[in-house]
Amino acid sequence: MWKITPLHVGSVTTIAGGLIMKHGAKSNPGELVKIPHIAWLLENPVSKRTILVDSGADNDNARNSKLHNPVDRSQGKHILEALAQKGYSAKDIDAIIVTHLHWDHAQAIVDLPKTLPVFCQREELLFAVDPYPTDAKHYETRATDRLPYFLQFYHQYHLLDGEETIEPGLSVVPLPGHSNGSQGVVVETAKGLFVIAGDLINIRANWEQRMPGGIYNNIASYFESFKRLEALEKQGAVILPAHDFWVFDNYPVIG
Ligand SMILES: [Zn+2]
Repeated sequence: MWKITPLHVGSVTTIAGGLIMKHGAKSNPGELVKIPHIAWLLENPVSKRTILVDSGADNDNARNSKLHNPVDRSQGKHILEALAQKGYSAKDIDAIIVTHLHWDHAQAIVDLPKTLPVFCQREELLFAVDPYPTDAKHYETRATDRLPYFLQFYHQYHLLDGEETIEPGLSVVPLPGHSNGSQGVVVETAKGLFVIAGDLINIRANWEQRMPGGIYNNIASYFESFKRLEALEKQGAVILPAHDFWVFDNYPVIG
């Protein structure tokens, strides 16, 4: 059984339509919302293993605000500070799982020990290296000022091909749609099964309304991934969104 602690690793202001499509609803295309970046600390008291799911963004707030969305680090901290606030350091981490390689989920891996394995779907790395032009920005694949972050930890990848068990009570399930190699992390806790769904489910409303986010590269895959989540929910799983303050309000600690 694992314990899950969501870590608030920054906030950004972004367009609401990026989080959820609003077909058929009255929408304001310019509507802005503030959302959290979330990393997830998983601890197993029996095996003494500590796994980090996603990392949040690095500390170059000015660059990130320019390339992506305005970053607010007064709310939520860089992963090293967020860990310290909970009484942990980078040395306590045994491995990292990435839901996908977008900047706001994987950038700060470069600030963590270079020896940590990074569990990532092979499809995701392939896509990050050669994304559709519309997706390149999210990976900084064509940034010219420095090597893309996801290539700076190339030696750490443990590439996965589909559903796999990472540790007892901890597995991954492919959830493509938001990106080719997005994966959910399925965690057994004393409170039952939880799925860290990555950006397939930005906010709870994506799940409650079965409505995709505005950032996707394959809408057919997106709906297939909803079905995969439905099967997990039928087993009792709680679906955790990636960018919703609902997480901190309802699940400050799980298990
Ligand atoms: Zn994403």
